[in-house]
Amino acid sequence: MCTGCGACAQVCGNSALSMEYDDEGFLYPVKDDSLCSGCGLCRRRCHMLVERTANRNTLRVYAAYLPDLSQLYSVSSGGVFWALARHTIEQHGVVYGVEHQSLFDVHHGRAESLEQCVPFRRSKYLESNTKETFRQIKADLEQGRQVLFTGTGCQVAGLYGFFGCKTYPNLVTAEVVCHGVPSMNVFKTYIHELEALRNKKVQEIIYRDKSRGWNQNCIRICFTDGTSEADLSSTTPIHRGYLSGYYSRPSCGGCRYASLPRAADITLADYWQYKGGLRENNQNLGISLVVCSSEKGVACIEKIKHELLIEPSSLEEAVNSCRHLSKAPEESKYRNAFLSHMKKSGFHATFSKFRRKESIARKIAKLNPFGKLIIKILRNKGENYE
Ligand SMILES: Cc1cc2nc3c(=O)[nH]c(=O)nc-3n(C[C@H](O)[C@H](O)[C@H](O)COP(=O)(O)OP(=O)(O)OC[C@H]3O[C@@H](n4cnc5c(N)ncnc54)[C@H](O)[C@@H]3O)c2cc1C
Repeated sequence: MCTGCGACAQVCGNSALSMEYDDEGFLYPVKDDSLCSGCGLCRRRCHMLVERTANRNTLRVYAAYLPDLSQLYSVSSGGVFWALARHTIEQHGVVYGVEHQSLFDVHHGRAESLEQCVPFRRSKYLESNTKETFRQIKADLEQGRQVLFTGTGCQVAGLYGFFGCKTYPNLVTAEVVCHGVPSMNVFKTYIHELEALRNKKVQEIIYRDKSRGWNQNCIRICFTDGTSEADLSSTTPIHRGYLSGYYSRPSCGGCRYASLPRAADITLADYWQYKGGLRENNQNLGISLVVCSSEKGVACIEKIKHELLIEPSSLEEAVNSCRHLSKAPEESKYRNAFLSHMKKSGFHATFSKFRRKESIARKIAKLNPFGKLIIKILRNKGENYE
């Protein structure tokens, strides 16, 4: 059940818990028995063990994007995060978001200037380590600073769990709709194999490259020699496997937070199926779906409205456009087999094997009953039906 939010480790006054990667490449709390006093605070503040009823309701839905097209180019969707961050910084507030410290270190960071918010832009399709963030947020809030926290729904729920029953009027939470977080081990294996194939080192990965437009979403891989390669996300193996659910965190399949009403004050997503008038001047550079689930969220969007091209939308259109707004991602039935096969055979060989398997399964599903019977007989005889 653990979502790896890190609230338990941060709430422990004895530092008895630390977040460490497990064998599959996901963060989990690890306890040092010699430091644990057995007080149980970590369990009482866990958002998965103690469900808190938040005062949430879907109040408003919008389509929006940044009018400055050069800024819009550098964000994943319509850049509503950037407008929220700018507004918070202008109020001398603090912004928390996700950044790459290095290729294999993705974590939450703290920003007091807009420049420091730049690394938070664009989705990173990896699990972020919240480290000491929740403690820092508490300190900022108690000093009266305005705080914007951004992350996945489970991280937002983790932050609320960390606070227990305490609420803060100066905290705004903005979550990204999430398809799940993939394994760091798989990502590392993929990158190491790619480096061996290309005979050069990877420096950076840009998950949401808009060089072919927003809806031709690409992943760009930049190498240390200054070269780079970009391919459609849907055909780049590391992203294709992620979309297929081969290596997501166990808690992501059936995620509790991919449902309405949402956990955060504001929810952000790609508005892929948006059909309204805002498309006209967008030049295919990205439109955000914005859902406000609290009065605080509504008030916040009202304040930044003049910085956006924005129009109201309906919940029905939003749900039809964005699957994980109301429906949890599904874990692939091949997930465990994929991860154990990858340990022996590496990423690329495993990816090809499971893609082939899935394509055959799809073809079999389309067969008439007679065809299915033949496959069954061949299988029983131990023959390779591929
Ligand atoms: C792992 C992941 C899966 C997603 N899945 C979907 C999906 O299935 N459907 C959909 O419509 N949208 C999805 N999104 C959201 C979408 O990609 C955009 O992040 C969102 O629309 C905000 O875009 P923007 O242009 O406003 O902000 P951007 O400038 O792109 O800002 C990115 C925001 O995302 C946060 N962020 C970046 N990486 C992470 C991370 N690893 N964990 C937590 N927060 C992060 C940053 O802190 C920042 O607030 C996903 C995002 C992530 C990170």
